[in-house]
Amino acid sequence: MSNDAPVKKKRKFELDPRLAAYKGVWVFIEHERGQVHPVSWELLGEGRKLADMLGVELAGVVLAAPGEGQPFCQEAFAYGADLCYLMESPVLKDYRNDPFTRGMTELVNTYQPEVLLLGATTQGRDLAGSVATTLATGLTADCTGLTIDLDNRSLAATRPTFGGSLLCTIVTLNYRPQMATVRPRVMGMPERQEGREGRIIEHPLAMAEESIITKVLDYIPDDTRDKPQLPFADIIVSGGKGLAKPENFQLVWDLARVLGAEVGASRPVVQAGWVELDRQVGQSGKTVRPKLYIAAGISGAIQHRVGMEGADCIVAINNDPNAPIFDFAHYGIVGDALQLLPALTEAFRQKLA
Ligand code: FAD
Repeated sequence: MSNDAPVKKKRKFELDPRLAAYKGVWVFIEHERGQVHPVSWELLGEGRKLADMLGVELAGVVLAAPGEGQPFCQEAFAYGADLCYLMESPVLKDYRNDPFTRGMTELVNTYQPEVLLLGATTQGRDLAGSVATTLATGLTADCTGLTIDLDNRSLAATRPTFGGSLLCTIVTLNYRPQMATVRPRVMGMPERQEGREGRIIEHPLAMAEESIITKVLDYIPDDTRDKPQLPFADIIVSGGKGLAKPENFQLVWDLARVLGAEVGASRPVVQAGWVELDRQVGQSGKTVRPKLYIAAGISGAIQHRVGMEGADCIVAINNDPNAPIFDFAHYGIVGDALQLLPALTEAFRQKLA
C-alpha cells in the first residue's frame, strides 16, 4: 500500500444511553430434580472471563421451588459468581416455559444485565428462544467461542455457519441483553473454590398456577445409564470412514476396551449404520473434552474438529500424510489403522496387564 493511501478512520460506536445502563454478565443456572447441569458451571467459568474484561460482576440466575435454590447459589459462588438472583415460587418447581420465561424476563427488565448466557441443552434452548423473543433482543445459538469486543463492549459470539464450513462472529449492537447459548463441554470446567462467598438478591414471582397452561402430570426419567456418555469420558477412541468396512470397526472397540475408553465415530460411520448416533462426535453430534482422543481413519473435517478439538491430547492415525487432522493433532501416526489399531491394543494389553 502506498503511503499516500487514505487511512479510513474506524467510526466510534456510541451505545444508546438506554442500553448503556445494562451492566453485568449473567448465567442461567439450569437444574432438574436437585441436580445442576454441569454446563452452568462451564458457563460461569467463561462468564468470569467476560465479566473481568468488561469490569463488571458475574451473576448466576436461579429459578426454583421455595427452599430449593439456596444450595445452587452457594455452588454458583464456588464456581465464580459474585452474586445470584434467586427467584423462588411453587410455579417454578419443574421446568415449564411459561413461568421460567416470565421469571427470567422480569429479572432482566428489573436488573438489566448486558450479557445473558444459557446452556444449549433442551431446557436452555427452549428458554433462550422465548426470553429473546419476549425481550426483542438478539440471541446467538450454539456458540463455540465468546469474547468481548472492547471497542464497543459488545459480546462477540462465534459459531459455525454455512453447514459448518465457516465460523462467523455475531454481535448484538443495538439491543440488550446480548444472549448466547453454548453446548455442554464446549467450554472447560472452571476450578471449584470451596468456601467462596457471594450475595443473594431475592426477587419474588407473582404468578398463579391457574394462569399457566402447561401442567406437569408425571416425571419419567430419561434412563441414560446404558447410553454412551461421550461428553464426560476421559479417553475416547474414534473411528472414521478410513476403516473401510463395518467389521473393521471392531478394532476400535478392542482398543477402547483395553484402555477403558468410550467409542466415538465420525458422521459417515454413523450414517452407514456401523455405530449408533449417540457416538457421533462433531457439529451435529457430541462435543467432547477427553484427556485423550485417538482418531483412526478420520480426515479431520471442520465439522468433526469442532466436536473434539478441546481434547487435552489428540492422537491421529491416518495413512495420508496430508490429512487435515495432522494440522491440529498433538501426535500423528502416518500408517494403516487396520494394522496400527491391533498393534496398539496388544501393546496396551501387555502394559496394563
Ligand atoms: P473421510 O473424510 O472419508 O476420511 C477418511 C480418512 O481416513 C481419510 O483422511 C483417509 O486418508 C483415511 N484413511 C483411509 N484409509 C485408511 C487406513 N487404512 N488407515 C488410516 N487412515 C485411512 N462429520 C462428523 O464427523 N461429525 C459431525 O458432527 C458432522 N456434522 C456435519 C454437519 C454438516 C452440516 C455437514 C455438511 C457435514 C458434517 N459432517 C460431520 C461430515 C464432515 O464434513 C466429514 O464428511 C466427515 O467428518 C468425514 O468423516 P471421515 O473423516 O470419517 O471420512
